[in-house]
Amino acid sequence: MISLKGKEALITGASSGIGKAIALAFGKAGADVIIHYHSSEESAQEVVQEIIDFGSQSTCIRADLGNPEEARNLFKKTLYALGGLDILVANAGIQKDAPFIKMSLEDWEEVIRVNLTAQFICAQESVKIFCKNEANPCKGKIIFMNSVHQVIPWAGRVNYASAKGGLKLLMESLAQEVSAEKIRVNAIAPGAIKTDINKESWETPKKEEELKKLIPYQRVGVVEDVAQAALWLASDESDYVVGTTLYVDGGMKLYPEFKEGG
Ligand code: BGC
Repeated sequence: MISLKGKEALITGASSGIGKAIALAFGKAGADVIIHYHSSEESAQEVVQEIIDFGSQSTCIRADLGNPEEARNLFKKTLYALGGLDILVANAGIQKDAPFIKMSLEDWEEVIRVNLTAQFICAQESVKIFCKNEANPCKGKIIFMNSVHQVIPWAGRVNYASAKGGLKLLMESLAQEVSAEKIRVNAIAPGAIKTDINKESWETPKKEEELKKLIPYQRVGVVEDVAQAALWLASDESDYVVGTTLYVDGGMKLYPEFKEGG
């Protein structure tokens, strides 16, 4: 059993989906967890209650991460609530899909702002806090939620794929820069995980069969698949893992179309 006892964690976008599953796994493992949410206070409160029922501390904080000032304030409020921070899971993300020539500048900018710029701000605020922590054996951990689309191009989603590709090098450059401070920076790249963001591609059995053609392991992922990976990356069990992307994708990035042919 992996323990996060005594650790303070902030998970962005934790009122639903992958973020919620990570928050619950961390709370169950003994961490105190801040649930960041954007719009759904009721769902966030439910996650908080589940974590309290596990015996850990939890509270939820609202912030529009697309607004730099609100994003920075989230960290002030987190420190006020927890007194410290050891783990950031920069999970919040959005999709605004459109064919290239129809994609509005607003949708391009919003996706870059939330999926890339906000990750920069959250990581920067965390590193400032971590630098003041005692090394034990690690001062702090950042896990960015990336995607298989950090390497797989995605037609109709150039904003999303560009943000994720940028996030890959943000993660790797930051890891290179702060590792000597005993801060571990890594990412998780989920493939198709059943959540609201991609419901359209798995909600009927026919669509799910289609989707499975892109997944060598022949199963669409569930949020717990990602939560278990996050738990390990956030723990000292993975202490020598630095600047790595852990793909949790059933093999999606293995070019399944090439299984036969080519
Ligand atoms: C996207 C999902 C998609 C998955 C695999 C994720 O990053 O958010 O909508 O199903 O990648 O393509």
